[in-house]
Amino acid sequence: ARAWTLTSRPNGMPAADNFALTDVALPPIEDGMIRVRNSWLSVDPYMRGRMNDTKSYVPPFAIGEPLQGGAVGEVVESRADGFAVGDHVVHMAGWRDEAVLPVAGVQKIPASDIPVQRYLGHLGMPGMTAWFGLLAVAEAKAGETVFVSAAAGAVGSAVVQIAKAKGMTVVGSAGGAAKVALVESLGADAAIDYKSDGSLVKKLMAAAPQGIDVYFDNVGGGHLDAALATARDGARFAMCGMIEGYNATDPVELRYLMRIVAARIRLRGFIVTDFQAQADEFQREMGALVKAGKIRSEETVHDGLKSTPEAFMALFSGGNSGKMLVRL
Ligand code: NDP
Repeated sequence: ARAWTLTSRPNGMPAADNFALTDVALPPIEDGMIRVRNSWLSVDPYMRGRMNDTKSYVPPFAIGEPLQGGAVGEVVESRADGFAVGDHVVHMAGWRDEAVLPVAGVQKIPASDIPVQRYLGHLGMPGMTAWFGLLAVAEAKAGETVFVSAAAGAVGSAVVQIAKAKGMTVVGSAGGAAKVALVESLGADAAIDYKSDGSLVKKLMAAAPQGIDVYFDNVGGGHLDAALATARDGARFAMCGMIEGYNATDPVELRYLMRIVAARIRLRGFIVTDFQAQADEFQREMGALVKAGKIRSEETVHDGLKSTPEAFMALFSGGNSGKMLVRL
């Protein structure tokens, strides 16, 4: 098989020479295992954190070893009960074309007319992040005003649409006019271009004149600051990610931190796997919204295994609308 390995740890923005495409020998397939040919690879911002040699909620990638990540593939050989040749599965042996895997941790995709790559997007990890972050972590309710950053991305576009389906008022922010139009087309009540001239605090106050009850943070930095500035008393923040800082070499300064105290704001960090035990509930309820046509899924697709690092790196310059994917 062919797999991408990490040859060196990025310093700041990742670069092409941090990655190398290499041949890897597949282990023999034993009982309880399947051989999978990947058809879709996911690239996700959290992978950047695993490229640093620091302690976090997942161990760092090892230098010289194949990278890992979400992928959808087709079973081409099976020695595991319940998995047949031709089944489509979601698993974590991405960044490569083929893998031999024990089936623990492999999820079978139910046969339906839903495109299989959706299980890497709104019906997969990013969708589940949006669902539980909004509804369980922030405890957002109908009638409340929700602000979400990176609203044109995989998680953010799900947050916008789940919030609208649940009767909330939604303000989304994204970079550039085209993405603002996309966020509006997903149903947001207002969308902010954080890259246009002017202060983000002022733009957010204009978009949510009564303030915000919930902030779904994908970006951190200036976005978090603007959310603090506009938060109503008792606002809840779901701290999902802080992509603005993933490649930063200098610390970010926040001006409005003291508002956490004055406005009794509750910030709660979470990792999607905290909700693994409720994955069935998510599949059922999000699946129903998808079937009812209430969730539109944008995708940005790069073609070929060779393009994986390029797709990954483009996440940090806003090169994606909706879910960033590699199609093999
Ligand atoms: P996206 O599809 O949102 O892609 C990343 C987007 O972030 C880009 O398209 C870009 O949009 C925006 N972005 C990149 N750099 C910056 C910057 N410096 N300032 C502002 N925006 C920036 O990715 P995901 O939906 O997969 O992830 C979104 C967030 O959720 C990330 O922070 C990620 O780490 C986090 N996450 C957390 C999980 C958890 O369990 N806690 C699980 C999954 C994701 P634009 O063009 O609008 O700038």
